[in-house]
Amino acid sequence: MHAHPDDETIGTGATMARYAAEGANVTLVTCTLGEEGEIHVPELAGLIAAEADQLGGFRVSELTVACRALGVSDVRFLGGAGRYRDSGMMDTPANNHPRAFWGADLDEAAGHLVKVFEEVRPQVVVTYDEIGFYGHPDHIQAHRVTMRACELAGDAAPQKVYWTAVPRSVMEAGMAEFSGSTDNPFSGVENVDDLPFGTPDELIAARIDATPYAEEKMAALRAHATQVPPTSWMFTLAAGSGSDMMGVEFYTLPVGEKGPGVGPYGWENDLFAGVTLSE
Ligand SMILES: [Zn+2]
Repeated sequence: MHAHPDDETIGTGATMARYAAEGANVTLVTCTLGEEGEIHVPELAGLIAAEADQLGGFRVSELTVACRALGVSDVRFLGGAGRYRDSGMMDTPANNHPRAFWGADLDEAAGHLVKVFEEVRPQVVVTYDEIGFYGHPDHIQAHRVTMRACELAGDAAPQKVYWTAVPRSVMEAGMAEFSGSTDNPFSGVENVDDLPFGTPDELIAARIDATPYAEEKMAALRAHATQVPPTSWMFTLAAGSGSDMMGVEFYTLPVGEKGPGVGPYGWENDLFAGVTLSE
């Protein structure tokens, strides 16, 4: 369950590619078309919300190509494409658009997701934490809608809900890696404690090693060309640390029972660890 086209790739692309390749049914539900995004492709700059306002429709095609790269074929928009609009950054006028996802009726939006749950019967659902990982209104709302849908879904509710996370230790390694680089996502930050994200390692529940799918994730990232310029720190990261950084994704487990794990903190290496698979 993701907020905008590109979030599936940046946050969970390797995990999605791994499970799709291993034969799991992977369903992506994206809540908005990402209408308020920036545009990093000069020829497409006129599509932006303030001008032609055609970015959302264009991003449907980027998402299609990205999901093909990830091997994920079940791609849906919450309530149908265009039902909910990208709310923009916090405290911007886009928050108040009549279709802004930020202003969505929670139960109505959750109802759309419950229908998906009833159809695909997921054992495991992945979304963001309460702050939407980094505070974007649509990410916070995606979190709320998912958690509400789990409450409303009855026997179609998943056995486990995961939230995306980055362990503190990985964040610290990233800061070290980027110090001195030109596109530094941590510029101005001196201490990992000053960042709004970074989960203590002991609170992480799962470490999903999908390094064999790092290339698929990179291909999906390139498909989101309006959002991710070739100079992006993500490409720098891929070139530097390679598949280790791009192909490993982490999660906390707020709902459900943790399955068997490994290492000092008992991190699961499979989102389906301990899950009951019924007919
Ligand atoms: Zn997003």
